Amino acid sequence: MDPILTGLLKPKSIAIIGASTNPTKIGYKVVLNLIESQYKGGIYPVNPSATEILGLKCYPTVNDIPYVVDAAVITVPAKGVLEVTKQCGEKGVKGLIIITSGFGEVGDVELEREIVRVAKSYGMRVLGPNIVGTLSNSDHMNASFAPFLPLPGKASLVSQSGALLIAMDAATYTRRVGFDKMISIGNMSDVDFAELIRYLSEDPDTSCITLYVEGLHDGREFINAARACKKPIIMLKAGVSEHGAAAAASHTGSLAGAAKVYSAAIEQAGITQATDLNDLFDSTLALSLQPTMKGDNLLILTNGGGVGVLATDAAEKYGLPLKFAPPEVQEEMKKHMPDFGSAKNPVDMTGMAGNDWYYETTKSAFAHPWVDGLVVLYCQTAITNPAEIAEAIHRGIKDAGVTDKPVTISFVGGEECDNAMEWLVERGLPAYNAPDLAVKSIINLRKQQQISEINNNGSYNPGKIDSEKARAIIAVARKAGRDALTEIEAKQVFKCYGLPVTATDLATSEEEAVELAEKIGFPIVMKIVSADILHKSDAGGVKVNIKNTDQVREAYRTILENARNYKPDALIEGVAVQEMAPWATEVIIGSINDKTFGPTVMFGLGGIFVEVLKDVVFRVAPISVEEAMRMQNEIRSAAILDGTRGELPRDKAALAKALAAYAYMVDDLKDEVAESDANPVILYETGKGVKVVDARIILTKK
Ligand code: ADP
Ligand code: MG
Repeated sequence: MDPILTGLLKPKSIAIIGASTNPTKIGYKVVLNLIESQYKGGIYPVNPSATEILGLKCYPTVNDIPYVVDAAVITVPAKGVLEVTKQCGEKGVKGLIIITSGFGEVGDVELEREIVRVAKSYGMRVLGPNIVGTLSNSDHMNASFAPFLPLPGKASLVSQSGALLIAMDAATYTRRVGFDKMISIGNMSDVDFAELIRYLSEDPDTSCITLYVEGLHDGREFINAARACKKPIIMLKAGVSEHGAAAAASHTGSLAGAAKVYSAAIEQAGITQATDLNDLFDSTLALSLQPTMKGDNLLILTNGGGVGVLATDAAEKYGLPLKFAPPEVQEEMKKHMPDFGSAKNPVDMTGMAGNDWYYETTKSAFAHPWVDGLVVLYCQTAITNPAEIAEAIHRGIKDAGVTDKPVTISFVGGEECDNAMEWLVERGLPAYNAPDLAVKSIINLRKQQQISEINNNGSYNPGKIDSEKARAIIAVARKAGRDALTEIEAKQVFKCYGLPVTATDLATSEEEAVELAEKIGFPIVMKIVSADILHKSDAGGVKVNIKNTDQVREAYRTILENARNYKPDALIEGVAVQEMAPWATEVIIGSINDKTFGPTVMFGLGGIFVEVLKDVVFRVAPISVEEAMRMQNEIRSAAILDGTRGELPRDKAALAKALAAYAYMVDDLKDEVAESDANPVILYETGKGVKVVDARIILTKK
């Protein structure tokens, strides 16, 4: 591990610059917190106007400290931070924990940058500014102004919001979700999420990484770090309301809300996305305590039909429907229930289930090789004692002798149930007060396993790429002062990346149009060619199914006339004459160059599916062919691609290749292309491929 980063996050000694004798000041609280958390390293308060703080010797400057200082917590006012940073650099401090606020978050980005520049010139790293500090149970270190260390556990939190970190810290005790570290990341002037993910991935005291994210500086680096991470990551993204999509020139732009792109990136990064703060805690509990679920066989044990049904519903809702247990499992289960119980799945032992039955079913179910994951439910009854049931379940799990499978538990009832669940959680068994939460959590563990099995790092190289030619075509448009390519140019660029486009040529006269039409062969399609008319049909600029030379002449005149009426000042290059693709399923492929994640790729079905239902999925480009296949299966109307109402299944394999080739293209041209789409792409039945009949490319502003 990077020794400098370790010095910052696991320091052997800490100076508190701006330490104070005034109990209302942050500079006092940090010293107090370090003492109270029983930090074992050196604690050196720094303040020129004090000699002693909380019984510790106080130094006028950091350079007066006669010992090595690993980290400095800085609480002096913003205007003094730069000077202090220089002093720390001279002292040989490794990392700065800058609590002080009043920088980038209030618009003073320059000062913040200068501090980081100076810090780096001395080889120091910076956490913050504008943070609460950092807390670690395993290091007995509360280097923050949050009042106490969190409930000990194996998850580690990185939070962009300081206030939320303090609130979550307190909530760990009421929610019984334990954390080892809580790191406040604030303005992320230097150390960012990606770096902390890489650090925590190696941290022996962290088993699960919990993130609260408002925004990222470098989305790519974040995805790469998360993909490389060996531990589950659960993330709550705040600020997912739609924005910035209003003035988009392409269809994709208007569909690509920040939320959709973030969700796509989170998914691709293999991160579990929390829906809200409750979910963040609930998911963290199971992800931090239990191993992943290696197969799809989920077994549910219950003493109540009602909670069993709720759990069954949840299993389906969260994507892991229950299967009936095989006969040998059922036979074993039947030994521990009355005749009217059910051994199928959920295994319903009925309200008569006592400690022994819970023990026996838990033990044998958990040990059985068919079972990949177990959920144990309990409804409070008049004849059982929740504490004893909890004990029986715990013993059953232990005696099963299996450690590579997950189990989650739910007790529904009163205070005794709550106490019993607390007891279970303390023993590493995640317990929830609602059956659906226990099911959702174990399914998260299944998904986590699936993520680790998917190789989503892959990109697809379509082969025979002519990047230079593509760039030359773009250069011509740029030279002419245009920020969009014509359809003809865009198709040429697409072709450079192996995308199957319709043969298209430019006609600048009726005669030329006739010649081209005869060369291509009827029927043909004719379209206006103008970088000023991006939506050609709207301008009456598209004529399909042209069958003879008379129709070519007529179409030529009408298209030009319509275009001039539509936009009198449009620069018109001529009329495109192109091969007419037979009609089949229309799909749309698109891309926007997102400010956080860079080029993305979008897929959806054409027509009302995209326009009304907005049934599209996104990924960050590039993508593998397998990922492109998953995209096709992810849209709500996915069944249409497999053939409905007597239609044959569509050529998903060809589409996957086209999608991946397109993703390769937008990634390769990310410095040039701001938005693009192929709308529509015509998708034929299996074995017959795809055809791009319209192409659009909008260039980046330069
Ligand atoms: P725009 O999107 O700019 O209005 P398109 O090129 O997409 O123009 O053409 C409009 C519609 O005409 C398409 O959605 C498609 O249904 C049809 N179309 C266009 N080009 C062809 C072609 N070469 N073969 C078959 N149909 C086409
Ligand atoms: Mg179109």
